[in-house]
Amino acid sequence: AKEGGRNKVFIYSNEMQEKRVATMELANQLHNALNKGEFVLHYQPIMDLKNEVITGLEALIRWQHPQKGLISPVEFIPIAENTGLIHQINLWVLKTACLQKKQWDANSPYPLKLSINFSCKSFEYPDLADEIQKILDQTQTNPAEIQLEITETTFLKNIELGTEIIKKLREKGISIALDDFGTGYSSLTYLINLPIDVVKLDRDFIKYIGERTENEIIVKAVVQLAQALGIKVVAEGIESKEQLYFLKSIGCDECQGYYFSKPYPPYVIEEQIKILSS
Ligand code: C2E
Ligand code: CA
Ligand code: CA
Ligand code: CA
Repeated sequence: AKEGGRNKVFIYSNEMQEKRVATMELANQLHNALNKGEFVLHYQPIMDLKNEVITGLEALIRWQHPQKGLISPVEFIPIAENTGLIHQINLWVLKTACLQKKQWDANSPYPLKLSINFSCKSFEYPDLADEIQKILDQTQTNPAEIQLEITETTFLKNIELGTEIIKKLREKGISIALDDFGTGYSSLTYLINLPIDVVKLDRDFIKYIGERTENEIIVKAVVQLAQALGIKVVAEGIESKEQLYFLKSIGCDECQGYYFSKPYPPYVIEEQIKILSS
């Protein structure tokens, strides 16, 4: 038994070692991915629930790896956050999406709002608001049509600086959304204390609508609370008609999910915009 135990430990640490090597390799390649132009953006429509028309798009990054194919952000964003590369990536996403938006707006009946995921690491840079302003100037983008999505859990570290930057951004007319709401441990505290415009209800809450009454009660209460505080609510991960009807019935503002559209590359989204805007 003792030897078996030892074997197990050996195999386990070997696996760990392999994983560590793979992560290091990915981290090295990630460093050049930006210069090599290997990142691509897909976009997912955000729908107004009352009229069921598209109001905006969320930019979602993917890594077009020369050998491994399309890599999910779930795999490389955490690595980028640890190596400090994330700030450059965040700014690249903003600029690329702003340029894309210009093209779409030229052909759509009304301007579409752009939602950009901004890793909280970026909120450690005191110049962030100026850096963002520079990109909006360069691309001639209306700040009122930009929304930055931040995730609550990582925000705690430097809440004062983060709040200060958020205030500067909002003064420019940029809206701030709290992403993945409900997955952290102090959600309500954030909702009440951070100066935000939008809350994005995590898919974990949405997926049990129609199955668990408790979830419906929570979703309804959160929507009411947020709206009472003047905060708009976007539901994430809508996959069924039942979920859609429920969210409409409780007055949730917007939603996104596979029910309306998956995230797609720009040339597909162009067609989706036409379908979803009329
Ligand atoms: P997120 O911001 O919460 O994005 C929503 C995720 O849910 C996306 O996964 C989207 O494809 C997926 N999703 C949307 N609708 C549905 C649905 O109906 N059903 C299901 N099952 N999933 C749905 P994705 O694209 O893999 O992105 C994962 C996460 O990676 C994002 O979560 C975000 O935290 C991060 N991320 C993505 N793009 C960027 C980026 O440009 N910058 C930064 N910093 N993070 C990013
Ligand atoms: Ca998001
Ligand atoms: Ca989210
Ligand atoms: Ca998420």
